[in-house]
Amino acid sequence: MNADDQPHHPRESTVVEAVPRALLIDGTWRSATAERTFEVEDPSTTTSLCAVPDATADDALRALDAADRAQSSWAAHPPRQRGEILRRAFEIINSRHKDLSLLMTLEMGKPLPESRAEVTYAAEFFRWFAEEAVRVDGDYTVSPNGTGRVLVMRQPVGPSLMVTPWNFPMAMGTRKIGPAVAAGCTMVLKPAHQTPLTMLALGEILTEAGLPDGVLNIITARDAGAVMGPLISDPRARKLTFTGSTAVGRTLIEQSAEQVLKVSMELGGNAPFLVFGDADVDAAVEGAMLAKMRNVGEACTAANRFYLHRDIADEFTDKLTRRMRALRVGRGVGDDVDVDVGPLIDASQLNKVTELVDDAVHQGARVLTGGKADSGPGYYYQPTVLTDVPATARLTSEEVFGPVAPISTFTDEDEALTAANNTEFGLVSYAYTQNMRRALRVSESLQTGMVGLNQGVVSNAAAPFGGVKQSGIGREGGKIGIDEYLETKYVAVGGP
Ligand code: NAP
Repeated sequence: MNADDQPHHPRESTVVEAVPRALLIDGTWRSATAERTFEVEDPSTTTSLCAVPDATADDALRALDAADRAQSSWAAHPPRQRGEILRRAFEIINSRHKDLSLLMTLEMGKPLPESRAEVTYAAEFFRWFAEEAVRVDGDYTVSPNGTGRVLVMRQPVGPSLMVTPWNFPMAMGTRKIGPAVAAGCTMVLKPAHQTPLTMLALGEILTEAGLPDGVLNIITARDAGAVMGPLISDPRARKLTFTGSTAVGRTLIEQSAEQVLKVSMELGGNAPFLVFGDADVDAAVEGAMLAKMRNVGEACTAANRFYLHRDIADEFTDKLTRRMRALRVGRGVGDDVDVDVGPLIDASQLNKVTELVDDAVHQGARVLTGGKADSGPGYYYQPTVLTDVPATARLTSEEVFGPVAPISTFTDEDEALTAANNTEFGLVSYAYTQNMRRALRVSESLQTGMVGLNQGVVSNAAAPFGGVKQSGIGREGGKIGIDEYLETKYVAVGGP
């Protein structure tokens, strides 16, 4: 595979040029004060797509000024109207579905069909929270002694700081912006430096949908710590919501302690994928392909460790290896390009995947397919299946974030659960079994915030997404997703 062999379509530059390559502050698109910029790279060619502003801490503080100024009027905005803005944004996203998908593929690398799926998923958060905006309830009860009354109301938390990763450039934003808009919070959002364009396009859509000036402010920056640090320690910010690695999440929790910010953390995963002896093996292989290969394996929900019962291990391994070997690697940009697996996001991610596979092989793992980088110039890695992976391999404890399926076997349920839970992460796990009692027992015993039961994808705007242990704090999406942006106020009412 050689990215130069693929035709570059004129529509590619058109969608990039259509994006406002500027900071969104108080409803105005502007350049960074220092006039500095940084390049956004196409990971399938390693060439630059364009440059975006490199915000300074002063720019970020201006964004917080705007969010703070807009907060009280935004909180007073009728919930129905807040919901209607989200609904309009949902419709605009769908009307620009093709261009947004192409833009995402250009800056992130996943093949076009995957970007299309993400755009659909991302838009669903706006539709869901458009409906939730008018369902924030309260409570009014008589005190147990019969004299006083207990009045409970929900109010927006206030200006919220948002930091998003590169792997789902739009959905990780809409999952935060949707509930914040519905609840009446203003925002300062910083997307990942690798994928700022999708978020800037989304900012334009929300503006067109009628979001008032200052409600959503977007800053792009190369030095995340330098721009976010001053905001996190500013008393006007009331919330920090972050999606990204556990290492950065820990630092941000620590920084948030200074102002006792309300924090939501969607962090790393190390998902186990269990296939029991009574599983439907074909369904399990189908689920494994989704759980492993969605987003080129660069998903927090990606199956990171496969544990197979000895009775079905050979059949499952054989079928999975054949499916992985048949995947086509390449630049997945054109409508007519037949590609299943795009490049990894950058050189450091490619090095990390290479290192983890090499470490496992060095410790005795066998390569059934793949096992090395693919020819560039992009950051390609071959779909890989490893078997006999020892428990000491780094692959079993670290997120590989790439197209690599490490396989181990087990003989009984307890052994499988012990291995699955033997990690500081607890985002998601997958289990395949046709035995109902086992299914419930295993679902209750897995120490994760989510379980894919006979299913390889859990993401759903209508469901609470999030992890336990070091995979996070709080939930995004579902009925409780809006709670992350609401405070509860209790008024003690004297007896009438
Ligand atoms: P990352 O390195 O933690 O970066 C995530 C975001 O944090 C980026 O916007 C980054 O900015 C920013 N950041 C980095 N250092 C910062 C600092 N000191 N202060 C403030 N912001 C800072 O993670 P990533 O490599 O982009 O994303 C992959 C990770 O995200 C994986 O661990 C994955 O599991 C996790 N993830 C979790 C979920 C979930 O819902 N649980 C979903 C998706 C991804 P720069 O880009 O400018 O460095």
